Amino acid sequence: MVVRASKQKESAAARRGWRIGLYSLFALGIAIYGVWFYNWHTHETQKLATLEQKLNQPPVYITLGDTRLHAPVFASSAASNVWYMTNKSHPIHPKNYTPHDLVAVPLPTQPQLTGEETHVRAVVARAIHRLDTAAKQANVPLIINSAYRSYSHQEQLITESSSSLYDTGTRTAPAGASEHQLGLAVDFSSDTAACRTSANCALQTNDATWLATHAHEYGFILRYPEHKETITGYEYEPWHYRYVGKSLASALYTSGLTLDEAWPELQRAEQELRKRGEL
Ligand SMILES: [Zn+2]
Repeated sequence: MVVRASKQKESAAARRGWRIGLYSLFALGIAIYGVWFYNWHTHETQKLATLEQKLNQPPVYITLGDTRLHAPVFASSAASNVWYMTNKSHPIHPKNYTPHDLVAVPLPTQPQLTGEETHVRAVVARAIHRLDTAAKQANVPLIINSAYRSYSHQEQLITESSSSLYDTGTRTAPAGASEHQLGLAVDFSSDTAACRTSANCALQTNDATWLATHAHEYGFILRYPEHKETITGYEYEPWHYRYVGKSLASALYTSGLTLDEAWPELQRAEQELRKRGEL
């Protein structure tokens, strides 16, 4: 009898032990789940608050004269950016930058141009095609007199040429500071028999006027305008057009500002977008 009572006591204690163990395990499970749920909920709430903050803040604007543009995410200072600005005091970085998307320009080119010299960046080629379609309708025949120039080609032009066209004064950019190296600039000439067969190329006044009036509609700016020599550092070049896209080209055309003058505002917008974590 004493043995049976002792065994009953032992099994009751074991059952109690199991019960306590199970309850403890259950409590631990609840606690772990509670911590996980708290962390998950906090994280989700933070995500939602960040999204709301982004949605509720006003867009970053770029103000050029009377024109106000929404700053796009490509307002960045990388050389591959179509808004990138280079001039004598702001050389291209890195100096031997080469675009990775060069394609043949969709226009006749002057015969002395060969290989990559007949190329521009893909986005520029598309815009040139649209511009040329409109130019033809307006009886403005165009040919490309210069397109992409690598750093070494620009250097070679300057060192080997005896022509004053390639001095590095106010006519030709030094190597590492030419918009032609960006693959975003072209020099237009009027398409004549002489230009198709020799270096005897020029841009007729009528054709220059049409370009100056309409190029911005296709995303191009007259990069070195008359009376802006002290700002751009270059003489008036009615043939040199630079692609920046339609919105900026139109804003610069309307405001009469050069890319050099717009650059500080473009950089300010970039910094603001970076601060917001949008770049
Ligand atoms: Zn040029």
